[in-house]
This record gives sequence, C-alpha cells and structure tokens, in this order.
Amino acid sequence: MSIPFVDLHAQYLSLKDEIDAAIARTIANSSFVRGPDVESFEAEYSSLMDIKHTISCANGTDALYIAMKALGVKPGDEVITTAQSWISTSETIGQHGATPIFVDVDPVTSTIDVAKIAERITSRTVGIIPVHLYGQMADMPAIMNLAGKHGLWVIEDCAQAHLATIDGRKAGQFGTITTWSFYPGKNLGAMGDAGAITTNDDALARHMACFARHGGLVKGDHEMEGINSRLDGLQAAILRVKLPHLSRWTRERRAIAKRYDALLADIPGIATPTEVAGREHVYHLYVIEADNRDALAAALKDRGIPTVINYKRALPFLPAYAHLRHTPADFPVAHRLQGRILSLPIFAELNEEQQDAIVAAVRAVATA
Ligand SMILES: *Cc1c(COP(=O)(O)O)cnc(C)c1O
Repeated sequence: MSIPFVDLHAQYLSLKDEIDAAIARTIANSSFVRGPDVESFEAEYSSLMDIKHTISCANGTDALYIAMKALGVKPGDEVITTAQSWISTSETIGQHGATPIFVDVDPVTSTIDVAKIAERITSRTVGIIPVHLYGQMADMPAIMNLAGKHGLWVIEDCAQAHLATIDGRKAGQFGTITTWSFYPGKNLGAMGDAGAITTNDDALARHMACFARHGGLVKGDHEMEGINSRLDGLQAAILRVKLPHLSRWTRERRAIAKRYDALLADIPGIATPTEVAGREHVYHLYVIEADNRDALAAALKDRGIPTVINYKRALPFLPAYAHLRHTPADFPVAHRLQGRILSLPIFAELNEEQQDAIVAAVRAVATA
C-alpha cells in the first residue's frame, strides 16, 4: 500500500468530470485571466466566509504583500508576527522595508503567544499578523482587544485555516484584512498558484483590487502604480468546482484527526495535537510531537510512511533573519518545538486502512 503525504490525485478523481468540464469551458471561452469564473468565485467565497469583499490574486504570499501595501506599511515600521510560520508571513513585511518583530508561540497551539505581544509593541509598531497555524485559530478575541488598545491593524494569515472557528466565529472575520492561499495542498487548493484577500472595509477592498491589477479596475485607467497579481480563469473555474465541497472535506479532516488522537493516545514518547475548547481546528496539518523525532521520521520513511516537518526552523532562526541576531533564548518555545514536531499524512480522502498502517508504523517504531 502506498501512502502519499497529500493525495491531490484522489481529490481530482473524486471530482474529475466537473473539473474537466470547467477546464474545457474556460478554454472554449478563452477566459484565461480574470473573466466570469473569477467574478463568480469571488462572490461565492465572500458568501461562504461571511465577509463583504473577496479580492482574488495570484497566491497567498502576494495577498500578504498587497494587504500590507494597502495598510501603508513603509520602511522603519515594525510589524509583529509569530515565530512559527511559513516564510511568506514575514518575507512580505521585509518587502515593504519594515522589520518583522517575532513573538514566541504558545506551547499548546503553536500560534502567537498573546501574553508576549504587548512587551514587543513600540512607537514604530503598526500592526500584528497572527497565523492560524496548522488549521487552529490564534486567540483572535484577545489579539483584537490588544490591537484596539494600541491602535494597530491586524492581518489574519488564513492560508492554513479555511473554515476554522473560535467561539463559533469563522477565521477571517476578526482582522482588518485576511489573506488566503489556494496553493494545491491547502485545504482549498487550486491546480497551480492562487490566493485571495478578504475584508469588510469598502475602501481597503477597492484599493487592494486596484493595486493587484496594475492600479486600475478598468483596463487603461491606472489610478496608481500597481502590480500584476491576478487569479487566472482556469484556477477560478477549478476552485468553483471545489468550493461547495470544502465544508465536507473539513468534517472529514476533523474525523481523521480525532481518529489519530484516539489511536495514538497511548504511544509513549508521542504527543497528539491539542484542540483548545471553543476552537474548531481544520487540520490543514496533523502535527504530533515526538521525543525522538528525527529517528522516528527516518524509521517511518523506511517503512514507506511519508512525514514532513512544518517547519524545520522557526522563522527567527532562518539564515534570512541572521541579521536580527536572535538566539534560542529569545524564542524558547518555538526553538524547542522545531526539534519535536512531525506532520503525519492527512487529507480528506485518507482511508482507515491507510491510517491504520500509519499508526501501526508509528507504534512499532516508538515501542521498538
Ligand atoms: C501557504 C502559506 C502562505 C503562502 O501562500 P502561497 O499561496 O503559497 O503563496 C502564507 N502563509 C502561510 C501560513 C502558508 O501556509
């Protein structure tokens, strides 16, 4: 039995006729950049996420860049973000000439430790970018409260958290702006790069839509200099086929995660992820902690079980940030976790037989 880390082909096969028809329709219409499917996708996404505006763009990294551009981030500014994420979250801060101010993560959720944000706020701080890492939301009510007190904007990086909730409220409904990725392996994935920005703010929405499209909504009418970051018609058509299935896929991911929790519970040296009361984790990744992580990963690989480390190094410890001269003592939780975390395969189509084989391999290695 071969078990992939993420089975994108299984998902394609489950919707093959509809996806093939959507691609054929786009080719027949030649609606390759923007076009009717892009407009429809934006409206359908806004409706599912209960947010007024969706501005589609080329990928989730551009979404962050465009959001910060609209918020006026400039050289000299400081933007607070989490020590544990994919580099998009921090590299886009640097792209505006601003400095990422990293904050250590909470040991239970691996999301930004809200108790440690206030001490990093200075007169140069302009905003906060929490990341709903692995699919569980950061403590948004507390973050919004703090941001409000200090007059800061908040961008929710929702690249891993489609349909996650806290106290029944969806990810994306708290921040000034929210950014999304539809990279193929994300919970809602295109068949190439794709992304979006959502907001309830009319003026920001218009500004971001203009900026992403060469500074104008009407061809030839450039209100400002912008960039070229558009969703293409094929990706929009594919995303429209997949969007109605996102809620079911999320339920299936959650059921798989709960089954992992139960099956892995008694294995020594392994800790399963914690879903905090009041939060609905959407398990973009199922991340365990292991005492002998590297040995476990190597032994699982020998047994044909793929795993991934998300991420090998916390952001402050990447060579890209060597100039900030951070030490492990600055981010003790993120530093400890980077040596212990291991992501097991999870995707909506993962079947019980595959999952049993994964768990059996983990048990055999951990108890050997
Ligand atoms: C995937 C991801 C992004 C970037 O999305 P792309 O579409 O790959 O550019 C940003 N932030 C986080 C947390 C991500 O996981």
